Amino acid sequence: MGEDLLHDEEKEPPSPLPGLEVVFPPHPPKRHLKVVWNRSSRDISTSEPQPGIRTLEFRKEFFNAISDAHWNNWHWQLRHRITGFAELERFLCLSDQEREAGTRRETIFPVSVTPYYMSLLEKNNPLQSLRRTVIPVACEHVHAPEESEDPLNEENDTPVPGLVHRYPDRVLFMVTDFCSTYCRYCTRSRIVGKRQACRLSPARWQAGLDYIQATPTVRDVLLSGGDPLTLSDDLLEWLLSRLRRIPHVEIIRIGTKAPVVLPQRITAGLVRMLKRYHPLWMSIHFTHPDELTPETAAACQRLADNGIPLGSQTVLLAGVNDRVDQMKRLFQGLMKIRVKPYYLYQCDPIIGSGHFRTPVARGLEIIQGLRGHTSGYAVPAYVIDGPGGGGKIPLLPDYVLGHEGRDLLLKNYQGRVCRYPDPAASLTAS
Ligand code: SF4
Repeated sequence: MGEDLLHDEEKEPPSPLPGLEVVFPPHPPKRHLKVVWNRSSRDISTSEPQPGIRTLEFRKEFFNAISDAHWNNWHWQLRHRITGFAELERFLCLSDQEREAGTRRETIFPVSVTPYYMSLLEKNNPLQSLRRTVIPVACEHVHAPEESEDPLNEENDTPVPGLVHRYPDRVLFMVTDFCSTYCRYCTRSRIVGKRQACRLSPARWQAGLDYIQATPTVRDVLLSGGDPLTLSDDLLEWLLSRLRRIPHVEIIRIGTKAPVVLPQRITAGLVRMLKRYHPLWMSIHFTHPDELTPETAAACQRLADNGIPLGSQTVLLAGVNDRVDQMKRLFQGLMKIRVKPYYLYQCDPIIGSGHFRTPVARGLEIIQGLRGHTSGYAVPAYVIDGPGGGGKIPLLPDYVLGHEGRDLLLKNYQGRVCRYPDPAASLTAS
């Protein structure tokens, strides 16, 4: 992982960056944890969650000699990411489709799965939802004419490299191209994991900060990537502190999948640091109810307990999460761990994603199956990110049937028609 130096706190932080005033806080003292494998006498950490049963079995099969202290350390998880097909074969019985993807030299998007997330995959089931999201298949090499590398035309709204300014009052600041685990449907696969497009560089970050500083309309900054939570606490704090010096930046958001694929990252030290930069929000990328493990629940609890509002973003994926019952379990489960389901995205037409895209009607069916049938808080906004740079466009099932005289005819969640005396229609009619 030579290129991952900037993501590894166990190595020295980079020396002060030329041209930037970077003062890194001293290293926290190393924690010496007593290593105990036995679940009944776990005293390795103040609040490590009891692992899920699947994870326990996986560890016994593949990492039996690895201590809890290592397993629960995010650096260890990052260093032991599974990144090659030979390694995948060790953990999974690969299907023909998966093996073919591995033998093709021009694999488009890198493979990387943390050992923790690998523990949630079913060894003998290539159709398992979680497995389909991170293990490549040959279909990725099928390119439909409507697909493109940058379907949202973000490059066109990029005033400085790594920063997208599309909406008037907010920007997307891509601070790294690295993720611990790569999703096969990633909208930013043109950048993420490419190791050149968005390489972490002082000049790049400074250009982004300068742009934000010089643009007073920007009141909301979304740190994204890649996954910003793969940065060390020191680097992340450096960025947050610089953003907080800009008076017109009211809100900082972090977009991440770490609580799901690398819950070990949500350390007490990290949240202690994050809470110094409130108001700070977090958007977590969830895909399926099987991701709601004790480890992920504990990570979300730690964030929520420290006052970080949590929202989820989910991409609708064919054969993965495109059923009402799956989505209901996911969104209700998120509510229980204090994450508000925020967006459900129609899958963007990125290259090689045809096997993941559902008809839009499926997304509408899902919203219809949720609205009224569960808490309103558990129903996200279903959106299409308009190709070509249209921005997020919300979609709703047809609840409005039209006007009859002055009445607006509406269909409720049971299909019953209701009349609402519409004041606007009355004004027009009179
Ligand atoms: S976590 Fe986000 S940025 Fe990273 S691969 Fe998945 S979708 Fe892309």
